[in-house]
This record gives sequence, C-alpha cells and structure tokens, in this order.
Amino acid sequence: MARRLRSIPPTIFSEMSALAVRTGSLNLGQGFPDQDGPPAVVEAAVRALRSGRNQYPPGLGVPELREAVAAHQARHYGIELDPLTEVVITAGATEAIAAAVLALVNPGDEMVVLEPFYDSYVACVEMAGGVRRPVTLRPPGFRLDPDALRAAVTPRTTTLLLNSPHNPTGTTLTREELQLVADVAIEHDLVVVTDEVYEHLVYDGRTHVPLCTLPGMWDRTVSISSAGKTFSFTGWKVGWVTGPADLVQTVTAAKQWLTFSNAAPLQPAVAYALTQEAAFYDALAKDLQTKRDLLVAGLRDLDVDVYPPEATYFVTTDVRRYGHRDGLAFCLALPERAGVVAIPEQVFFDDQDAGRHLVRWAFCKDAAVLEDAVARLQAADLHA
Ligand code: PMP
Ligand code: GLN
Repeated sequence: MARRLRSIPPTIFSEMSALAVRTGSLNLGQGFPDQDGPPAVVEAAVRALRSGRNQYPPGLGVPELREAVAAHQARHYGIELDPLTEVVITAGATEAIAAAVLALVNPGDEMVVLEPFYDSYVACVEMAGGVRRPVTLRPPGFRLDPDALRAAVTPRTTTLLLNSPHNPTGTTLTREELQLVADVAIEHDLVVVTDEVYEHLVYDGRTHVPLCTLPGMWDRTVSISSAGKTFSFTGWKVGWVTGPADLVQTVTAAKQWLTFSNAAPLQPAVAYALTQEAAFYDALAKDLQTKRDLLVAGLRDLDVDVYPPEATYFVTTDVRRYGHRDGLAFCLALPERAGVVAIPEQVFFDDQDAGRHLVRWAFCKDAAVLEDAVARLQAADLHA
C-alpha cells in the first residue's frame, strides 16, 4: 500500500455498521435515515431509467440539475449562479470534497480543519500530501474559538475546510463566527472549502448561513452540498459544488479524473426534488427535531453528559461518568451490553485528550427504534 494511505484507518462507519449487522444491534452509528425520501422523486428516477437516460451524463452534470441547484441557491440564499460555469455535479459531497482538496492542496500545504473532522477530510488531505491544522471545537458549546483559529494559520496555510452545520457536534456557525472565518481567510488570502450537506437539517428556528454570502467571500469560497441528507437518499450519491467559475473549473480539473460523471438517471430525479419537493426537507427538519429531543431526553436519563445539537443527525455524549476513559472501548462493548451501536468520536480527533471520551448517537431513525434503543441503554449496565 502506498505510504500516504498507510496511516489512514478504515472508515469507522463501515466498521460500526458491520458490527451492528454482526451483533443484530440497533444501529445509531452510521448516519443514514430509516425512511427513504419522497416517493415522487423515486418515480422521477424510474421515469429517467425508462426513458433511456442511462449513458454518461455530461461531466459537469445534466443541465436541468445544474439549473435546479442554481435556482435553489437563489431561492434560499439570494446567491445568483450561472448554471453553465458556476455549478458542477459530483458523486455525493464525498467526491466534491476529494476533488476540491486534490485540486487546491499542494504537497506540504497546510489546510485548517475544524476538529472533530468528518473522516474523509483526513484521508483526502493525506492523499493530496497536505498537512491538516485542526481547530478544536470543545464541549459544552462546541463554539469556534477565535484564538484557536488564528493560531492554526501559518505562512504555509493555503486553504481552510469548513463544515457547518457540523458533523458530529451539530454546531451551526453563527454569522459572527462565519465573519471571523471570513476575516482570517481574507487576511491570509485563503481559499475556503465549505461542506454544507446539513444546510436544511437545522433546528429550533435557526437558519443556515452560507459562508460565500459574507462580504469578500464569494471569490474565495468553494461550497459543497448534496441530495443525500436533504432528501433522505444517502445511497444516491448526488452532490454539487458551487462557486465562482475559476474555482469550479479548478475543482472540475480533479473531479473529471475521479468519476468523470455518475448517476445518470438520478440526476434528473434530484433536479425534480430540488424544484418540486422543498416541503420535504422542511418537514424532515421538524421530524428530526422531535427525534433529537426524544434521544436527548433518553440519554439524559443515563449517566452521561449530553450535548444537544443545533443541527444534523447526531447527538454527542461524554461517557466518563460511567468510568470509561475510552469511547472506542465503550462502543465496542455496547452491542453485547445493550444491543446498540454508536460511534466513538476519537477517530475524528488529532487531540485525543479532547475526543477520547466522546460518543456520537444518530437520531435519523424511526421513533420506535430510538425508543427501543433508549430502553435498552437504560436497562443495561454501562459501567466500565
Ligand atoms: N460531509 C459530511 C459532514 C457528512 O456528514 C457526509 C455524510 N453524508 C458527507 C460529507 C458525505 O456526503 P455524501 O453522502 O453526499 O457523499
Ligand atoms: N455521513 C455519515 C455519518 O457521518 C456516514 C457517511 C459514510 O458512511 N461515509 O455517519
């Protein structure tokens, strides 16, 4: 195996989903919903399959999807995009992240990343030969610390990889925090890649603010989102990159050699979803907020510190009151003790002291599954 891959462990999501299947446990690990997205969108995909949309789509994506993404950005955020040059469709946000990092990071370049980080960021920075410079979000609030952000930037920093709403903490960066990122990016002439896949899964009346809408940020921001979370089709892997034409072209320079293009019949279906099914994600966010509250209440009856999220699918807990110093050991024992699977967050941290004891629980599951999981956890002995 090439040296640059040797230090990267297999993704925790495969490992923990396999553990759930092997042990017959309830899977509150990997973030995928129990319920599929709108049936009319599935029908749109079936129509596309039957009407012969089965050959390579254009490398930039089918025109109607690029137009639908542009219209979505205009409708929600007032961002006016040229669908011909300022949008490219990707194989999920995952490919968009990989292409952006490979296209922007030279060997030795430093990329500032929020920690805990989504696991593919680490792998992509390693594959590009870059160096990650983490900025740690700390409990209870997981807010962005201005001093930590400034301290992470060095003369070798060229890029910043942001994720808001943030997986796994559920932090949604406020306008003030985004302004801080913008100030740092402008002062140090950084390009910012921003992963906004949870843009619509935001709770308690909050709204998502895209970084590219802040003054001076449009020209230096690559924005990423995907249909997976917004429409509950995580397996479809249809994502997109938006931004100024030169940055979209730069990302496309790498993207064309990764997949070239993907998901021919699904792209028109996602275009349909973006244009016709906006009510779906509003209802989804309401439903997920209720499920968040259900899981948070259940976890609060355990001997853990619970950090309710502002957004996303996930709740973070600190398991030290059970006598566990190590969230991985806790999670590996959990199927046998309680028949439940969760994700040890330490794999998303360089700073092990900050992350070793944190455990993530997904609530994008049926209410009955969440209730069953809570009952099992409450009945189990979870002490070290
Ligand atoms: N970024 C974050 C923060 C995620 O949680 C995920 C998981 N959906 C992705 C990117 C990957 O998105 P996709 O499934 O569209 O590749
Ligand atoms: N985004 C999902 C999560 O954080 C998982 C995606 C994956 O399995 N790669 O759980």
